[in-house]
Amino acid sequence: MQNQLEAIVIRTRPYGENNKIVTLFTKEAGKITCMARGAKKPASRLAAITQPFTHGVFSIYKGRGMGTLQAGDQLESLRYIREDIMATAYASYVTELVDRLTEQDEPQPAIYDMLYQALHAIADGYDPEAITLFVEWKMLRIAGLTPTLHECANCGATEGEFAFSFQELGFLCHRCFHLDRYIIRLSPALVKLIRTFYFVPIERVGGLTLKKESKTLLKQIVRTIYEEQAGIRLKSRSFLEQLERTPEFFPEPKKDIPEGE
Ligand SMILES: [Zn+2]
Repeated sequence: MQNQLEAIVIRTRPYGENNKIVTLFTKEAGKITCMARGAKKPASRLAAITQPFTHGVFSIYKGRGMGTLQAGDQLESLRYIREDIMATAYASYVTELVDRLTEQDEPQPAIYDMLYQALHAIADGYDPEAITLFVEWKMLRIAGLTPTLHECANCGATEGEFAFSFQELGFLCHRCFHLDRYIIRLSPALVKLIRTFYFVPIERVGGLTLKKESKTLLKQIVRTIYEEQAGIRLKSRSFLEQLERTPEFFPEPKKDIPEGE
């Protein structure tokens, strides 16, 4: 059976001397893995289309077992992602997270849309760190982690001061702070930001410019949730953290839009 599928390449690994095993996140069919014969040879017509982060339409022959990639047409070039080391690092983190949290052959159009928007936003020069935060907070649900963020996780209050509690997996209001000794107190702006990351679709937020300290704190919270509650630590994280500690790799974001707090 031959299938034409719109997809994004989220992972590739070499197989034998000339082949690649390519993981695609497709719009209609979710995550699928296929064999791209000869794709490691630079002259192959599959060489360009099987680069990470390629967005295209792929022809896949599906018999028994793993499908075979037969041809592909690139829809848009997300070249900037591969040319900029920070963009590459964040895009790798995003695609690895999607890969880790999804199963094969399970249609998940909402995740496809999010991945598509995230990679395009990174390719368009929006702050890749902020875009990655969006993806991390949104993918919590996919990992089966549903923090209580619209109200206090203990008493249900929606008014007051809030803090994040790992123990309660969500917000606690000031009346309930005593329940957890290790709460992280949050300013109203940070409470609003966390809700935005978790609830608001990426395309409706556009280019939010965030303070470095806000990003660092929100990243620490979400990565701790993944690690402690789901045991997930991504391989691409070490590379990213190494880059983040190296200021010369920190270019100013190309687009500057006023802080949306
Ligand atoms: Zn409360």
